[in-house]
Amino acid sequence: MKIAIVKGDGIGQEVIPPAEKILRHFLPGAEYFDVKVGYEKWKETGTACTDDDIKKLKSADAILFGAITTPPDPDYKSVIMKIRHELDLYANLRPVKGDGFDIMVVRENTEGLYSGIEEIGEERSTTLRVITRKGSERIAKAACELAIKRGSTKPVVIGNKANVLKSDVLFRDTCIGVCKSYGLEYKTMFIDALTLDVLMQPSNYDVIVTTNIFGDILSDACGYLTGGLGMLPSANIGDAHAFFEPVHGSAPDIAGKNIANPIAAIRSAGMLLDHFGYCEYAALVEKAISASVSMGVCTKDLGGNYGTKETGEYILTEIIKEEKSD
Ligand code: NAD
Ligand code: MN
Repeated sequence: MKIAIVKGDGIGQEVIPPAEKILRHFLPGAEYFDVKVGYEKWKETGTACTDDDIKKLKSADAILFGAITTPPDPDYKSVIMKIRHELDLYANLRPVKGDGFDIMVVRENTEGLYSGIEEIGEERSTTLRVITRKGSERIAKAACELAIKRGSTKPVVIGNKANVLKSDVLFRDTCIGVCKSYGLEYKTMFIDALTLDVLMQPSNYDVIVTTNIFGDILSDACGYLTGGLGMLPSANIGDAHAFFEPVHGSAPDIAGKNIANPIAAIRSAGMLLDHFGYCEYAALVEKAISASVSMGVCTKDLGGNYGTKETGEYILTEIIKEEKSD
């Protein structure tokens, strides 16, 4: 197995090393290699992500990614969007887990309102919202596969706005068809009411599948249910590539101080392990994180006074302890 490590900018440089260490602990036989992309690289070389970088990323089975700074400079093109597009990472998986709830937001990642097809004018600007049967089908399949893998006892919820957006009729009905073909229960809900209900009654939900912008907003809103940005991991999955990253960005305000919470990055490594079938390793990672947080070994954002490095080291020690007691 080949694993590309991209630390990126800002706190990406700090939160990825402890996550990589944990990956290496579980998968010592894998081949690891660094790929340097991002704003720092752009400042040094004029290019944030070269074709050769994309080639290297494509050669990996999995990518562990930190974060990248996107400056307001109009000449700078988003590296993340380029990677998502080039590697066709169509399924954005964002788990939101807490006391009594375990939700997986499955967001379509390549089309919808983020199609990039826009006409900008002084008096009128338009963005084309693209929904295709193929795009809807593959994201619905990803959601159904996850529902099965998670042993979900709740219906797959299809978040949509088909009452107003006629393009969502195609999305909704395609998802319904896929759920039926898997023999899974499903429920359709309008995205606005759904978002409120998820926040009020999170334990009623498991897998939620939705289009690009709705999934973006819903999953960020769900961050409210957990301990904030430093806790949230994500995966971007395509048929040929798999990319794992914390939800947070490069956090320039706290970079270089050894105070960033490494848990979102470590959880992203856990999602990588889970994705490749190492479910018991992923469970150990979660267990060790819970142990560390409940012992008060955590960073400032969670009320602790441990550094990024120290928290990461403690979590690894907990993992080793759990393994010995098994
Ligand atoms: P951010 O997620 O970097 O930071 C938001 C706030 O949360 C900051 O106050 C930060 O200190 C805090 N925070 C974030 N992660 C934390 C962690 N692990 N531990 C403790 N506190 C944490 O978002 P932003 O400030 O809007 O963006 C900063 C830069 O990151 C921008 O250039 C933006 O474009 C980029 N960004 C990149 C990604 C990505 O690479 N996927 C995602 C979001 C933002
Ligand atoms: Mn977002």
